[in-house]
Amino acid sequence: MMKINKFLILTLIVLNGSCSPAPKYFGHGSKPKRKDRVDKKRIENIEKIEISLMPPVKGFSRNRITSFFGLRKDPKYETEEFHKGIDINAKRGDYVFASADGTVEFSGRQRGYGHVIIINHGNRIRTVYAHLEIDLVSPGDEVKKGDKIGRVGDSGRATSCHLHFELREAEKALDPLKYLDVKSEDVSNEE
Ligand SMILES: [Zn+2]
Repeated sequence: MMKINKFLILTLIVLNGSCSPAPKYFGHGSKPKRKDRVDKKRIENIEKIEISLMPPVKGFSRNRITSFFGLRKDPKYETEEFHKGIDINAKRGDYVFASADGTVEFSGRQRGYGHVIIINHGNRIRTVYAHLEIDLVSPGDEVKKGDKIGRVGDSGRATSCHLHFELREAEKALDPLKYLDVKSEDVSNEE
């Protein structure tokens, strides 16, 4: 009798033990899914806003984009990060142009961005120009679409010279490509 009881208790302990790792397994499996859902939401959140952007560098074309907007994988660490803008290949010292009329809200250094200029276009819409070599404007300056605001560099977290360009509505990052008026750049190329 005692032997059977001991066996039963042991069996119960073993069964309990074998059950407890199971939820851990499922938890591990669902974790990346949850992350995907959050990121998807961020992308789906994009609504059309009323703005037409002039390309911020001369001779812009889609094939000069070295990194697009959205989720991107870091091949070294196999992690995913959300790229909040587009990277446009450019030479050191190339002029950077204001994409639309607005007021310079920030010009200075920011972690990762290096030297960055932020232009406020009203209606909580802003454009961001990062990794600059130098700026040609100061906070408070009124700028018109096409004004020279700075020069391309590789300041901040950049491995080569390029312009990191962002479009924001309040705190939300939008895909600048959807708002870029590439035709206006064709015209300015004719000078
Ligand atoms: Zn970038």
